[in-house]
Amino acid sequence: MRMLGAGLIVIGALSAGCGGANTAANVAKPQLDQAAVLRQAQAAKAAKMAAAVKVKANELGQIPVIMFHRVIDKPATQDDRTPQQFRSDLERMVKDDYVPISAAEFVSGKIDIPAGKHAVVLTFDDSSPAQLSMDELGQLKPNTAVAILLDVARKNPGFRPAATFYVTRDMFGKTTPEEQSQMLLWLKQNGFDIGNHTRDHLNLLGKSQKEVTAEIAAGQRLVTDLGGAPPITLALPYGNQPRKKEWAANGKSGSTVYKHAGVFLAGYTPAPAPFSKNFDPLGIPRIRAMDKKGDCSQFCSTAWFDWLKTNSDQRYTSDGDPTTVAYPKFKAPFLRKAFAQRALPY
Ligand SMILES: [Zn+2]
Repeated sequence: MRMLGAGLIVIGALSAGCGGANTAANVAKPQLDQAAVLRQAQAAKAAKMAAAVKVKANELGQIPVIMFHRVIDKPATQDDRTPQQFRSDLERMVKDDYVPISAAEFVSGKIDIPAGKHAVVLTFDDSSPAQLSMDELGQLKPNTAVAILLDVARKNPGFRPAATFYVTRDMFGKTTPEEQSQMLLWLKQNGFDIGNHTRDHLNLLGKSQKEVTAEIAAGQRLVTDLGGAPPITLALPYGNQPRKKEWAANGKSGSTVYKHAGVFLAGYTPAPAPFSKNFDPLGIPRIRAMDKKGDCSQFCSTAWFDWLKTNSDQRYTSDGDPTTVAYPKFKAPFLRKAFAQRALPY
């Protein structure tokens, strides 16, 4: 009787609470799944942390943004590099485990490089023919910056040839719109990034808001009229900020609206990572490409590459996962709030 009674009670519970029983089953099953999903997520996170620890990832570390101008046989200014110097600049980066990313990728925090590698941003100012030139058949002229960069990348798999070209109306020495758009199209088709450097290379220091926005908007139109996308970043001519630095990032002139996610200076230090609280999108420092001598004994590229090698704990080191921002957990106070969701402290 007891057994029967118990059986009846069970049957009663099942029949009376049909909906209830179903609900209970529905709740119980997802709970199990959720627990499994959670365990999986924890295991995946642990694996990501182990990978980050293994390479001593530091995605709050510093990133050198190198500023190149012309690559020519007989340098005329402190900004020029010979083809040999430029090649050895790049080979030094290969040797030190750097992988180039574009300025647009940098300011957007889209840094997709292998674990243990360091990000570097290569920028080329003033759109001179010494950077990009080709013959009538579209073959790159040897010893131009782009030809050397592609050659070094070809010989060193993994060193991706990413770079940003800050163009002005000089547009690689081309004068007709057809030739100019050919140059921009070539850069785009080969995965290069185009940045705004104002139309006339105007010194924005002390200029009125109207002059500043007109010149920057004209720089954007230069690119968009030739079929390019509106640039994501701007490099300030001479590194000079306008009276209000916001004017360089956002503005409107006539019907042209510009919005830059990052504004680059001339500068003389490596830049904070875009995930760091120290990152100021309105004033990102760059480093002049130059050997360690004279003016450049401390604050140009060779000196900084030496410094970053010696102080490797301060350098940006990737964990290989572009979706996370990995760093030793004691650096947590330096994480920018906007990236909290992607944080992977270890
Ligand atoms: Zn310039």
